[in-house]
Amino acid sequence: MLEVGVPESAMVIVAHPDDAEFTVGGTVAKWTAAGCRVTYVLCTDGNAGSLDPDADPQELARIRRAEQRAACATLGVGDVVFLGYDDGQLEPSLELRRDLVRVIRQYKPEVVICWDPTHLFTDGDYINHPDHRAAAQAALDAAVPASGMPLLWPEVGPMHRVRQVYVYGHDQSNFYVDVTETLDQKIEALKKHASQMGDWDPTEIVREWSAETGREKGLAHAEGYRVFTLEQSPPVE
Ligand SMILES: [Zn+2]
Repeated sequence: MLEVGVPESAMVIVAHPDDAEFTVGGTVAKWTAAGCRVTYVLCTDGNAGSLDPDADPQELARIRRAEQRAACATLGVGDVVFLGYDDGQLEPSLELRRDLVRVIRQYKPEVVICWDPTHLFTDGDYINHPDHRAAAQAALDAAVPASGMPLLWPEVGPMHRVRQVYVYGHDQSNFYVDVTETLDQKIEALKKHASQMGDWDPTEIVREWSAETGREKGLAHAEGYRVFTLEQSPPVE
């Protein structure tokens, strides 16, 4: 039995292992507990995500895939798809868009969650990674309209219409998920990405972000989205 406001199925599309846990993990944990079938799509393996110049990219990719699977298990995510693009070189190419159309048509999510591709800067101390912007742009372009166009790439599967797109990190969020009860689960999942954490404990910063987002809505902890509703009717099979 699904709770009101929880979709039947959702697909989270991000660039790197750990991106989803840093941002939308509380929503994912809440939705999977409520019966939503969630699929993750990782555009890259994070094979350049190390400051050690002697690190082996292939070994790093292996480690990071395993970390992502462990994080997904913590959050109740059933399927994880790795597209295998190289970390640091992601572009919103037609090839990537087509790969995303393939997985969208395969899993038929009601909702697609991605980041805001226009997000370049945060305050005075963060410049967004180009892979994040590329993954977000490709995700939006694949969700709408490409997946729902029967004459476009029919060889990757029959058309599927995504009903809603949730854009995380939009500066005009219009939907807030109360993640107060799943915040600890989000942090636990994030810590599975041990290769990225080192000695650093992400607990404080993650709690701070969700508290700041929740403050506007009178919630202890929240994750905010700009939600775009594309089809009022159920998705076409
Ligand atoms: Zn990232």
